[in-house]
Amino acid sequence: MTDTSLSDAQQQAAIDRSIVDAVLAGRLKPGARLVEQQIADLFGVSRTLVREALLKLEAMGIVEASARRGWFVVEPSVAEAREAFEARRAVEVGLLGCAGKVGPVALAQLREHLRAERAAIAADDVGERSFLLGDFHVCLAQALGNRVLADILRGLTARTVLIAALYQSDHDATASCDDHEAIVAALAAGDHELAARLMRAHIGDVEAALKPVAPAGPLAELRAALAPVGRPAPAASAASAASAASAASATRAQPVSPAPRPRAAPSHPRTAPAPTAPARPRRKSQEP
Ligand SMILES: [Zn+2]
Repeated sequence: MTDTSLSDAQQQAAIDRSIVDAVLAGRLKPGARLVEQQIADLFGVSRTLVREALLKLEAMGIVEASARRGWFVVEPSVAEAREAFEARRAVEVGLLGCAGKVGPVALAQLREHLRAERAAIAADDVGERSFLLGDFHVCLAQALGNRVLADILRGLTARTVLIAALYQSDHDATASCDDHEAIVAALAAGDHELAARLMRAHIGDVEAALKPVAPAGPLAELRAALAPVGRPAPAASAASAASAASAASATRAQPVSPAPRPRAAPSHPRTAPAPTAPARPRRKSQEP
């Protein structure tokens, strides 16, 4: 990974980029520890440079430092999750509303990105798919000619990916890709107002797919294991209710499978097994 021809600033940017991309791809999960010395060894740079890179990521809300644990990937709270989605709505809907015409080269790049999204979904490549679905929003800002907002969106999108990982989003990757395609089609037709409306709905759908459950932290397994036997764990039941409510109100008529109950306590032996709901295979995405 060492490239001695790069300046300190470029190396620092390369470290930041690698970490954000790993978050977007779901390879670095919320709570993952980042050890300065290990990163320094990997990139062949000084710890000072790594620390500077991590400080920048801290300012972006991607990592945090604690005296006890050192550096780690943030675990956003429900309130922080809401704020991150609000920020994305403001930035992305606002950008689409005021941007100028998208040229043919930028449109071709966006369509190429959509093709890559479809290919990753077809190949069931979870990391690549999550990365591309999140990166679409960064590419869109670039296509609209705003590098400042593209940079901001890279950080914001990485935060919402962390939120999706923590709050067990099962937003359908295919639905996300369809939304992206409709947004690009609206831009190609010069209808920015429609593109902005579609973006608002898209971010809302992704946010709505987050289940109002306790985040999967160190206590999650114990909580599931200690749930009363014969009854679903509280988190799972809240998730099922939310899933049912969203199914009832969904404008997109899709069969919604019941929320999975990871490591649920075995049901009561006299309880008849619940019929398995017919569901089309969902391609779980951590997009936002
Ligand atoms: Zn998206």
